[in-house]
Amino acid sequence: MIKSIANANLEGKRVLVRSDFNIPIDPDGTIRSFTKINDSLPTIDLILKKGGIPILMSHLGRPKNGPDPAFSLRPVADYFNAIGYCTIFVDDCIGPKVEEAVKNAKTNQIVFLENVRFYKEETENDVEFARKISKFGDVYCNNAFGTAHRAHATTAAIAQFFPHDKYAGLLILKEVRILGKALSHPERPFTAIIGGSKITGKIDIIRNLFTKCDNILIGGGMMFTFFKARGYEIGKSLVETDKITLAREIMDEARKNDIKFYLPTDVVEADKFANDAFRRTVNRRDMNPDMMGLDIGEETIRTFSRVIISSKTVLWNGPMGVFEFPNFARGTLALAHAMAKCTSNGGLTIVGGGDSARAIQQLNYENKITHISTGGGASLEFLEGKELPGIAALEC
Ligand code: AMP
Repeated sequence: MIKSIANANLEGKRVLVRSDFNIPIDPDGTIRSFTKINDSLPTIDLILKKGGIPILMSHLGRPKNGPDPAFSLRPVADYFNAIGYCTIFVDDCIGPKVEEAVKNAKTNQIVFLENVRFYKEETENDVEFARKISKFGDVYCNNAFGTAHRAHATTAAIAQFFPHDKYAGLLILKEVRILGKALSHPERPFTAIIGGSKITGKIDIIRNLFTKCDNILIGGGMMFTFFKARGYEIGKSLVETDKITLAREIMDEARKNDIKFYLPTDVVEADKFANDAFRRTVNRRDMNPDMMGLDIGEETIRTFSRVIISSKTVLWNGPMGVFEFPNFARGTLALAHAMAKCTSNGGLTIVGGGDSARAIQQLNYENKITHISTGGGASLEFLEGKELPGIAALEC
């Protein structure tokens, strides 16, 4: 059983909150995305309302050799102060400075610790390091869904020091509830859209969905390995030659499981990998040997959109084309639009983190999707059916 922070008695308690503030920050401290911060706030507000003192800890990036100002969380702490929280930033996450700040912190204040990855012990899941940090809290709360697939000191090892006082934050609970509902009790039809560059990395999710969904729509660079498996000319498109047999097996398995497996019927091909490339839409059987496919075509957009809009549950992971180039973003953006329409029809729409989430943001469609997962890797592993160490550690 995993306990919710909403049911904890936190009056006067110091609550160590593992958060995910791994966000893009410019060298001058300008924060480029507030999504993860905003998603963390309901849990922090709840702790403050219950009379607890949040002690926030997070990682930022991948610092190599100890403390490095380029990976400091100070800009995030400053932002908390700017939006009205009373935040004390400590430029360390263990040691006397933290001890002092935590001891002196009062109700309504937040203590914000420096990047836990300034110590290599964090990623090593070091128990002694976790024990040192655990001393700063009476209660432990994990709210970092984006890091839940990592067994690190502040996401996994630390939980053992709070056998009766470990809780899941509201964000983790929301992610698990919505992703879990899609996997275990989806309203049907249930459609999965799988895109991105390669089959490698997405194969486990495709396999896990075989027993669960009704339709699978394939796009992105990976479609060409499937085309190759069918014997089509794919020109200079991305292909994983060592995955052609696997692609064939996937299509066979889909047939056996009675899943409608949709491959694009037309593609936008280009004469080079660039936004200003010469481009044209062709049937998937008519690709030029000297060109490469960089997006799905109009006919595919119509078919895929129709399937999405008539679904009751839709899960999307990975772009349909090289959407970083505006000229090859149409397929991805069109499907984002269809997702929004599905939501307004009462469907449950879920977008895995990463590139597909960025496409939704590009269109300002955040409010038109039921749930955009804050965890790229974590949501992938959850959807693959794997146990996430950061969540397993919260089991009582
Ligand atoms: P992934 O990280 O596996 O989800 O892949 C995302 C990347 O796939 C994005 O950077 C896209 O530009 C890329 N991508 C999507 N479609 C294609 C394509 N047709 N050819 C090459 N790369 C693609």
